[in-house]
Amino acid sequence: MSTSLLYHAFGIRGYQYTRTDYQEGQVLFTIRQEPETCRCSACGSPRVQSRGRVERRFRTVPIGSRATFVVLPVPRVECQACGVVRQVKIPFADPRRSFTRAFERYALELGRRMTIRDVARHLGVGWDVIKDLQKRDLSRRFAKPKLKHLRHIAIDEIAVAKGHRYLTVVLDLDSGAVVFVGDGKGAKALKPFWKRLRGSKAKIEAVAMDMSKAYRQAVSTHLPEAKIVFDRFHVVKLFNEKLTQLRRDLHREATDTLQKKVLKGTRWLLLKAAENLDETRNEKQKLEEALALNKSLATAYYLKEDLRQFWEQPGQRFATAFLNDWIKRAEASGIKMLQEMAKTLAWHRSGLLAYYDVRITSGPMEGTNNKIKTMKRQAYGFRDKEFFKLKILAIHETRYELVG
Ligand SMILES: [Zn+2]
Repeated sequence: MSTSLLYHAFGIRGYQYTRTDYQEGQVLFTIRQEPETCRCSACGSPRVQSRGRVERRFRTVPIGSRATFVVLPVPRVECQACGVVRQVKIPFADPRRSFTRAFERYALELGRRMTIRDVARHLGVGWDVIKDLQKRDLSRRFAKPKLKHLRHIAIDEIAVAKGHRYLTVVLDLDSGAVVFVGDGKGAKALKPFWKRLRGSKAKIEAVAMDMSKAYRQAVSTHLPEAKIVFDRFHVVKLFNEKLTQLRRDLHREATDTLQKKVLKGTRWLLLKAAENLDETRNEKQKLEEALALNKSLATAYYLKEDLRQFWEQPGQRFATAFLNDWIKRAEASGIKMLQEMAKTLAWHRSGLLAYYDVRITSGPMEGTNNKIKTMKRQAYGFRDKEFFKLKILAIHETRYELVG
C-alpha cells in the first residue's frame, strides 16, 4: 500500500507502510514510524532516545465488509529535556482510543441515517462504542449552547420515565432550539441554567410557562425584568384535564345506562376544538347528544370553547374585559370544576394578560415534547441519562436519527 493511500483512505500521514495481513476475515495494515521523526509527547523536543516499542491496534474504516485495523508499534522514547520515558503522540487517533479518527468520522456519518444498533452491527462493534462516539460528538457541539442571544424562552417539565422522573427543558422560542435540560422539575432543576445565564449576559424579555408555582418564583428571582406569560397551551391543557375528570365523575355517578354509554364515547370529543370535529364520523352529533344529557358537562364544554377567544382579542383592554366576564360566568355556573378554574385564572390574571405585551406561547414545546416521546420509546430509553439529555439538546438538529 502506498503512503498516499494510507492518507486518503485512513487519514494517516507521516508513517511508512510495512505490510498487510489477512486474519479471519480481517485486514491488518502494519505501519511504522521512523526514529528520526519521533518527538517527546510532553514538550515536543526532538532530542529523544529510543526505548523500544509498544504494539497497538486501531480499528479503522472497513474495506468493503471487512473489519480493518491499523497496527502500529508505537515508539517509546526518553526525552533528554524532561528525563521521562513516554510513548510518542499518535495524530490519527484520540488518546486512549482504539480506533482512528477516520473510523470515528465514518461512524458518526452513518449515524445520521442509521440507528446506533444498525451502525454497530454494520461496523462489527458494540452498541456502546457507537453510543459513546455519538455522545462525545454531541457533547462537543451541544453541551453548552450559547445563551447570549436569548430573548424569549419557554420553561417546562417533561416526564421521562415511569415513577415520576422528570427533566426540565428550556426552549429558545425564537429559534426553536433546546438550550437547557435540567434534572428533575421545579426551581432546583433550573439552578445550573441561571448560573450559565449570568455568565452569558443575555437579556431575556419574556418567559412562557404553566401556572404552577414550580418555575414562577425562580424566574422572578433570577430574571426580575422578564415578563412571565402563562401561556395558552398550558391553560387549555389544564382545562382539558379537569374536563376529563368531570366526565369521569359524571360517568361514575350516572345511573341511566343510555347516559353512561353516551358519556363513555365522548372523552376525546370533549377535548377537541369544535372546528376540528369530524363531520364524516358524526362526531359533532355524538358530542351534542352527550351534552344534551348532561347539563353541567355542556356548560363546562361551552365555557372551555369560549375561553379560547381570550387569546383572539384585539388588545389587552378587550382581553381584560373578556377574562373578567368569563370568570364571572364560571363562578355563577354552580359547577365546582369551573369555579376552581375561575379561581386559578383570576389568581394568574396578570400573567395571562401578559400575552398581550409579548405574544409568546409554549406551543413549540409541544413539538419538542413529542420528539422526546419518540426517543423515549426507543430501546436505549433512559439507560444513559446524560446521553438522553444531549440528544434532547440536539433535537432541533436533524443530524442524528432520534432512534437508537
Ligand atoms: Zn520532553
